[in-house]
Amino acid sequence: MNPETGASPARLFFALWLPPEIAQRLHRQAGGIVGKSGGRLMREESLHVTLAFLGEVPEARLPELQAIAAGLDLPRVPVRLDRLGFWKHNHIVWAGCSETAPELSALAGGLQRALLPAGFLDAERAVTPHVTLLRKAAHPGELPALPAQEWTAGEFVLARSWRTERGSTYEPAARWPLR
Ligand code: ATP
Ligand code: MG
Repeated sequence: MNPETGASPARLFFALWLPPEIAQRLHRQAGGIVGKSGGRLMREESLHVTLAFLGEVPEARLPELQAIAAGLDLPRVPVRLDRLGFWKHNHIVWAGCSETAPELSALAGGLQRALLPAGFLDAERAVTPHVTLLRKAAHPGELPALPAQEWTAGEFVLARSWRTERGSTYEPAARWPLR
């Protein structure tokens, strides 16, 4: 909390939001896994692919951040989610790509490199594109096949993460087109 303004820093990240019909299919599929793995099912409308995680940003810097995002000229990207997986280290069940499109890595890299000089990130980090479907999951055993879910992302989103009693919830705060 800023003692002068009373404003709290925002917890922010850039992401690709899933088209609603793909979010619905993945959410449904995750609903079929939760019986085996337990854990917390992510809300359908919150499903996304994180491109850059900023962490806490002072409210006063939001206009500068938005100006950087608005000034970017980044291409549309193909996304193809075709496999489900489980990460033991963070207890997440996810949907991801057998092969990451170079365009998707380039988008995350381009965005991160634009944020670095202004100090919104401390380092560029390689992204393993994925959609978190379940958190705090136990090993689900063999996961079902995922029929490929494909779309072309035509925009990227700046999202805010809020901590609630039931875990974090995310809200897209602003969006910009990919060309
Ligand atoms: P919580 O941290 O409260 O358990 P969460 O991880 O869902 O919940 P956030 O930490 O706010 O919520 O994360 C928001 C988004 O950014 C999620 O997609 C998360 O995977 C991603 N993220 C969080 N921390 C990092 C990080 N250090 N590096 C890359 N991505 C991150
Ligand atoms: Mg987290």
